[in-house]
Amino acid sequence: MSTNENSQTGCVLSEDVRRYYLDTMGIQVWQSLENQPDDIETDVPANSDVIWQQLEQAVSSCTKCELHTSRTQTVFGVGNKSADLLIIGEAPGRDEDLQGEPFVGRAGQLLNAMLAAIGFQREQVYIANILKCRPPNNRDPKPEEVGACNTWLQQQIELIQPDVILALGRIAAHKLLNTDQSLGALRGKQHKYAGIPLIVSYHPAYLLRKPVEKRKSWQDLKRIKLLLNSNGSST
Ligand code: SF4
Repeated sequence: MSTNENSQTGCVLSEDVRRYYLDTMGIQVWQSLENQPDDIETDVPANSDVIWQQLEQAVSSCTKCELHTSRTQTVFGVGNKSADLLIIGEAPGRDEDLQGEPFVGRAGQLLNAMLAAIGFQREQVYIANILKCRPPNNRDPKPEEVGACNTWLQQQIELIQPDVILALGRIAAHKLLNTDQSLGALRGKQHKYAGIPLIVSYHPAYLLRKPVEKRKSWQDLKRIKLLLNSNGSST
């Protein structure tokens, strides 16, 4: 399969991915029939599984910011690729960096319990982070790292097309809503990201440190459930 190098972003975009986005934007790609070989090779179908695989592969070899030098592995995202609910956190921590999966460890267990409280299994939603690589010592992501990694999350959102996005924690909320308002000011209301309803809530790691806030988190979860129900979402 042929690939195109995008020298500005450093990402490798396959022909199938490029065509997918052009199709999505309603742009037809015309090819001269004279240049078509008699036997057109159709060994790899241009389906979403292939697109996801190519995207994950591109992320795993990404070197667009300095975090690639200290990561054990990239943490791409996990879950239902057609999920109604997309959960976006901040960045991988130590456990995530070691296991290659977002929201594992104690914070992940709490997230699973929160989801179960509104009738979801972890596998029914999609879970990703703003950053795909762990910042050393769990420091806050730098703006240039968030900017560099944004393209990967954008592509995930476009592929999933969720009904609702849940931003967990200050970093995710600030990036997705392009604001520096406090988390307290952002939660408790409905926002929009690219037309998709977005709810802000506390990061499970914060709730572990401050369990008294779980009550507010529960309000946020109920708001999400209501939104999904009003959309007629299947999960
Ligand atoms: Fe690439 Fe994102 Fe990892 Fe930086 S954090 S190296 S942009 S995948």
